[in-house]
Amino acid sequence: ATPMSIMVGSGKGAGVGVLFRDAEALERLERVDTLVIDKTGTLTEGRPRVVAIEPLAGHSAESLLNLAAAVERASEHPLGAAVVGEAERRGLDVPAAEGFDSVSGEGVVARVEGRDVVLGNARRLAAAEVAVEPLQAWAEHARDQAQTVIFVAVDGVLAGAMAIADPIKSTTAEAVDLLRAQGLELVMLTGDGRRTAEAVARTLGIDHVEAELLPADKAAVVARLQGEGRRVAMAGDGINDAPALARAEVGIAMGSGTDVAVESAGVTLVKGDLRALVRARRLSVAVMRNIR
Ligand code: ADP
Ligand code: MG
Repeated sequence: ATPMSIMVGSGKGAGVGVLFRDAEALERLERVDTLVIDKTGTLTEGRPRVVAIEPLAGHSAESLLNLAAAVERASEHPLGAAVVGEAERRGLDVPAAEGFDSVSGEGVVARVEGRDVVLGNARRLAAAEVAVEPLQAWAEHARDQAQTVIFVAVDGVLAGAMAIADPIKSTTAEAVDLLRAQGLELVMLTGDGRRTAEAVARTLGIDHVEAELLPADKAAVVARLQGEGRRVAMAGDGINDAPALARAEVGIAMGSGTDVAVESAGVTLVKGDLRALVRARRLSVAVMRNIR
């Protein structure tokens, strides 16, 4: 009866937008008590757009955007796509960049028209020895509205910042309420800044938030919760979530996310809709009840 029930369960999953990699994934989903969830691209749409540009002396909004877009054109990050998209929308003639490099969860660098451009969060700028203090108040105001701030430095001098908004998916609030009603403890993890993260968590009623995490930190939080005796599922969409997805009892990838995340997960939510996870868990409970 066991393999049969699981096959039926998997078939039903496919019908409601959930793919189980194997029988174990279906079995384990029933047992989890904690759901760790990535913010960008998982709770939010992951299709962010630029909502404000703040140039400092010597730059205009458009010159700043031009430099930033030149660098981000080589980036695969959704924030990079937002910057490039805004430059396109304004019809800018974006120059070429060379020597592109990215630091996962922090930002990107490249040379543009002979200048060294660094883009990213405060940590990335600090690593390049650029103080973001002149834009601190501006940045905090943006973050309190759940926006993400990207700082830009040119030749080691702060040149400005951009605020990027990434709306919460229309399906997220309902999914979060239902998952909580299923008895799951929710923990939000993000590489994004604390204020932005807390603004999103507040909207969704998620109490436990850990922000400013690097990919390895996300996996470490999963391991720590497991060390406290919790059985942890982790949902995420990005390359930066892969280590945590692999570490969790059950990794859950958004089908809308990166291939690396899908490959690291036991469960895929085909449409990137967290409500499918509510159905997946019900299915898992029903199948396991059948077997016992
Ligand atoms: P999340 O964990 O919520 O999916 P990430 O780990 O992907 O977020 O990103 C964390 C932070 O790193 C972003 O909020 C941003 O500040 C910075 N960052 C990462 N990639 C880029 C990029 N291409 N351009 C600018 N900033 C970036
Ligand atoms: Mg993400």
